[in-house]
Amino acid sequence: MAREAEKQSVAILGGGIAGLSCGYFLKKRNIPFTIYESGVGPGGNCSTFAVGDFRFDSGAHRLHDKDPDATTEIKSLLGDRLKKVSAPSHIYHEGKMILFPISAPDAFKKLGAALSMRIAAEALAGRTLRQSDSADFESSSIKRYGKTLAGFFLLNYSEKLWGIPCSRLSAEASGGRLKGMNLKTVVAAALGLRGATEHMDGDFYYPDGGISAISEAMADFIGRKNIRLNSTVTGIHAEAGEIAEIEVNGKSVEAAAGVVSTIPCDELVRIITPKPPSGVRDAADSLKFRDMIIVALFLDVSSVSSSATIYFPDFKYPFTRACEPRNRSAAMSPTGKTSLVFEIPCSEGDAVWKKSDDEIAGIVAESLSAAGLARKNDILGSAVRRMKRAYPVMETGFEKPLRVVMDYLGGLRNLRIAGRNAEFHYSWMHDMIARGKSIAGEFRTERDGEFGGA
Ligand SMILES: Cc1cc2nc3c(=O)[nH]c(=O)nc-3n(C[C@H](O)[C@H](O)[C@H](O)COP(=O)(O)OP(=O)(O)OC[C@H]3O[C@@H](n4cnc5c(N)ncnc54)[C@H](O)[C@@H]3O)c2cc1C
Repeated sequence: MAREAEKQSVAILGGGIAGLSCGYFLKKRNIPFTIYESGVGPGGNCSTFAVGDFRFDSGAHRLHDKDPDATTEIKSLLGDRLKKVSAPSHIYHEGKMILFPISAPDAFKKLGAALSMRIAAEALAGRTLRQSDSADFESSSIKRYGKTLAGFFLLNYSEKLWGIPCSRLSAEASGGRLKGMNLKTVVAAALGLRGATEHMDGDFYYPDGGISAISEAMADFIGRKNIRLNSTVTGIHAEAGEIAEIEVNGKSVEAAAGVVSTIPCDELVRIITPKPPSGVRDAADSLKFRDMIIVALFLDVSSVSSSATIYFPDFKYPFTRACEPRNRSAAMSPTGKTSLVFEIPCSEGDAVWKKSDDEIAGIVAESLSAAGLARKNDILGSAVRRMKRAYPVMETGFEKPLRVVMDYLGGLRNLRIAGRNAEFHYSWMHDMIARGKSIAGEFRTERDGEFGGA
């Protein structure tokens, strides 16, 4: 009987936003499921840490209002704890804070007339070149925005973020961040025309007390008993074209009728038995991920900036961007104090990854004071967190091995894949919520854990 009951349930591998979203919509449909999460809490790479009276997220998170259904779901979960925030972002360029996305009067004033005219001229000249789409990030950025603008922000920033030259990065690596920066915006901004900005990045939703409020509210809705923490999926047994059994912490658990994997796709391939063909394993091994170190500096000042996020494209800074959490929610730091949280993209095993927490915080503090953004004397303390697999690296040509992996996984009838590293796609929370809804909708009937045709 117990086995039959399990057979009608769904096993969700991973309890980040993707796994939680699947569980959330399955729960709404009364379909039984269990989430297996290797960590100590839900949320994955979308979490909030508390250190003393300070709170900070696993990188600068915000809920983009891009998918009305996803926003509505989160609003219904959080009620008035979800706030609309209006805070601009900036690019830190040679001591100046330039509004991002670029705003006409601001850019003209801060970049100066000569540079603004050059940006406009290049953007106009590039118009004729834009017909043929480029697969690599460098060419497509230059064609789209001109050499000067692409160079001063996009290319340096992206190389720091991804750790490879932009000529080896797929054009998809922007993750849609630049959609609002079209030719009209760039030219009008460079020429200093008013009203030209498409403000794509300044308004967003954010929960009181940190981004983890979303995963915690989902976990509450789902029911904590349906989430098994400290549970690493260590094996997947495939038989006759479907997943017959899964192994958690080295022990076999009852088979589920449906399996949703949100764990990184290369990891999934590695734990499947019998071993997938060598071509599939090689393809999975060729997919790369970027890790990240998060450094929080707690400051004895009430405010550093009004920015949601400050981008640092210059190579002389070890971090790519910083955010000031209290500009998203006042609950992120005690009254009269603030914090800055820096992202250092890197790979596990890099020299910086191996440094002690104090050494890393020291390097960041040094850069910060050199940039004139905060004084070392104002630093009350620091915290460092290492985050594995923050981003899938979309190196040119990644599509081919990815297709090999996904074709193989797609051949397992009762398996579905959801999530940033699981799908190897630069996706966002709202994408996870949409994907969770769509997968949950594939189950035929209530209390039926098999994928059907709904
Ligand atoms: C720095 C940064 C900033 C971001 N900013 C934003 C933003 O502003 N807005 C936005 O919408 N999105 C943002 N995102 C993206 C968002 O956080 C991701 O979409 C999300 O973290 C991916 O969710 P996921 O569930 O696919 O993966 P993950 O969060 O990685 O979750 C996967 C889970 O699987 C678990 N796991 C792995 N292997 C196993 C195993 N073998 N067994 C059991 N469990 C396992 C992991 O512990 C993890 O909890 C950002 C991401 C980063 C890294």
